[in-house]
Amino acid sequence: MRMLIMGPPGAGKGTQAAQITSFCGILHISTGDMFRAETKESTELGKKLKSYLDSGQLVPDEVTVKVIEKRLQKPDCEKGFLLDGFPRTVPQAEALDGILGKDGLDLIINISVDSAALLERLTGRRVCKQCGKTYHLLYQPPQDEGVCDNCGDELYQRSDDTRETVSNRLEVYQNQTAPLLDYYAQRGIVRDINGEQSIDDVFQEIKKVIRGIV
Ligand code: ADP
Ligand code: AMP
Repeated sequence: MRMLIMGPPGAGKGTQAAQITSFCGILHISTGDMFRAETKESTELGKKLKSYLDSGQLVPDEVTVKVIEKRLQKPDCEKGFLLDGFPRTVPQAEALDGILGKDGLDLIINISVDSAALLERLTGRRVCKQCGKTYHLLYQPPQDEGVCDNCGDELYQRSDDTRETVSNRLEVYQNQTAPLLDYYAQRGIVRDINGEQSIDDVFQEIKKVIRGIV
């Protein structure tokens, strides 16, 4: 099973991806997570990536495609994967077609949420420093404030989850990533999901779609 989860920043891709990958027994591959991990290293690449991430701009296609190509060649991808945050531009989607060859993707889940809700979701998002589990101050709070339920480590706010960077990221999504829906439309594998429901209801809807294709 080779899946892609799409939707604007804050739509709930990472939250749903964690549940989908455990339900399907496949890998979660998030370019955002891979880039954030690299920015923690004081490498030249890490420093360059940080400036793109902090401003909400996309990392250049050549860099992104190289990173994903290397990742998809690893043997653990053979049992299937869920891509989250890649592709984000038409050239990236074309490169992915080249990497995957004729079998391509089996399913694209497209989550939609309106922009006012996205702003609220992103500015209220908190993430665990250690295990990466995602929370929300109002919609998915941890049991103890600032502490991860999973591993007990500290929660932090992503440097790109500020009001001004969020509006930039939403604009980047509209201009560069939303056109991908047209790119994939005629393949008949895109399923639209209403993301403005509870986290569990969104997951139930996604499960129905997955059961329909396996
Ligand atoms: P993305 O990966 O698409 O950027 P996340 O999964 O990180 O989005 O979700 C963004 C924020 O919204 C997080 O704080 C998360 O807890 C919260 N969230 C996710 N899904 C929902 C939902 N259905 N209702 C309310 N809040 C949600
Ligand atoms: P995300 O975790 O998906 O919200 O991504 C965080 C940031 O990482 C984005 O705002 C971009 O700067 C960068 N990024 C993640 N995936 C990609 C991609 N496919 N292409 C370019 N930049 C990306």
